[in-house]
Amino acid sequence: MQLKTEVLVLGGGPGGYTAAFRAADLGKQVTLVERYPVLGGVCLNVGCIPSKTLLHVAAVLNEAKELKVAGIGFNQPDIDLEKLRSWKNTIGSQLTMGLAALAKQRNITVVKGSGRFVSDTEIVVEDGDNSQTIEFAQAIIAVGSQPVKIPSFPNDDPRLMDSTDALNLESVPKKLLIIGGGIIGLEMATVYNALGSKITVVEMQDQIIPGCDKDLVRPLMQRIKKQYDNIFLETQVNNIEALPDGLKVSFSGKDAPETDVFDKVLVAVGRRPNGHLIDADKAGINVDERGFIGVDKQQRSNVKHIFAIGDVVGNPMLAHKATHEAKIAAEAIAGMSTEWRALTIPSVAYTDPEIAWMGLTENAAKAQGISYEKAAFPWAASGRSLSIGRKEGVTKLLSDPQTGRILGAGIVGTHAGELIAEAVLALEMGATVEDLALTVHAHPTLAETLGFSAEMIEGTITDLFIKKR
Ligand code: NAD
Repeated sequence: MQLKTEVLVLGGGPGGYTAAFRAADLGKQVTLVERYPVLGGVCLNVGCIPSKTLLHVAAVLNEAKELKVAGIGFNQPDIDLEKLRSWKNTIGSQLTMGLAALAKQRNITVVKGSGRFVSDTEIVVEDGDNSQTIEFAQAIIAVGSQPVKIPSFPNDDPRLMDSTDALNLESVPKKLLIIGGGIIGLEMATVYNALGSKITVVEMQDQIIPGCDKDLVRPLMQRIKKQYDNIFLETQVNNIEALPDGLKVSFSGKDAPETDVFDKVLVAVGRRPNGHLIDADKAGINVDERGFIGVDKQQRSNVKHIFAIGDVVGNPMLAHKATHEAKIAAEAIAGMSTEWRALTIPSVAYTDPEIAWMGLTENAAKAQGISYEKAAFPWAASGRSLSIGRKEGVTKLLSDPQTGRILGAGIVGTHAGELIAEAVLALEMGATVEDLALTVHAHPTLAETLGFSAEMIEGTITDLFIKKR
């Protein structure tokens, strides 16, 4: 029997399920197609949530170790890897079960299988030997992305991991090489280092997290330099040879070391969109060479009744971008005039310390010739920061020299990912540094550092002494 639906959503990650839920709430009859047995996509199953669960474990292990300076010593931790793995999986399944319930409450038809377009009104969904055709009036493509593989590497060797394998936590390798000093590479380095692996990171650019301002990356770099065996910048891996006792790796570039053997290697060199996997051409949808689908401000593709959202429409590949796009697409389908109006999408690296930034970066301001005022408040002058034994943080604010409007902010330090929300709201509300400086922040909090950096630009700070120019 051929299924018929008003709105077909292809892909059940944060973008897909949000679009399906919003469309259903707006009165549409919705079918959601997902190839895996559970909803939630990469984020809930093999991305954001499992990685944050393991990063929490890493933070507790590190904090316990570091309390030695306060006279508190613990025995070596007893790590039961199997239990840790199943605890991590339980967290994910609580959320995916919640999603299944939310879909049911909205009368959404969830179909399991991989969907491919047959025409601009039909897709075929295949699940093993079963296949069914679904006819739709409108569709939202939310098929996400996948880790980039390097073809010359021995990709079938289980010791060569991508982020999904690394989160599976099969074992804790003695010597782990991480290729790519981006967000995934450094978050997984944090986890495996805390569990006991000796870490080497190789990054081809001249800094880790290349999209981020250098001054924000520095405190993280200084800390992990001491924790990890090696961090090689401007360096690449030439070749990986699978030997019985390890993976033999050769390097090239500025910092290139001698050939070395590692127990496991994690490849974290970016993700690529899944636009080429769905026969989009059969619906007449334009997909570019890399696999991205072009959309307008309402997430509409070149085929007017087919929308696309999330990783498959472009960078940054972040769940919180996908969920916002999802609501826009669903509302556009319901005839509303919603379009993308957000001024910024915050970025967070959940490393230790965390790094978070939003709005204008200094790199971008310099590249585009935008003039700005800047303050960088050192957390060494924050009572709260010192009391948690961490003083390497910095809170940086950029503002418009003429109007005082906040243009950008970057924070490196414990909980930076939570703290950046205030700066995002300030930017969206058109707040000035004066607004931020005159906002009463509770004391002692890390959030105060945003107020202090605003006071630095205002010239009213008393927690630091800045000589008058
Ligand atoms: P990324 O693009 O953030 O980082 C990849 C890094 O690998 C870059 O620094 C790049 O210079 C380097 N690189 C590329 N090729 C290389 C090579 N051959 N040798 C050495 N280095 C090389 O990608 P990612 O870390 O894989 O993450 C993928 C996506 O997932 C990103 O869009 C990221 O934003 C997203 N993500 C976000 C979060 C978060 O928000 N906390 C967490 C995980 C992933």
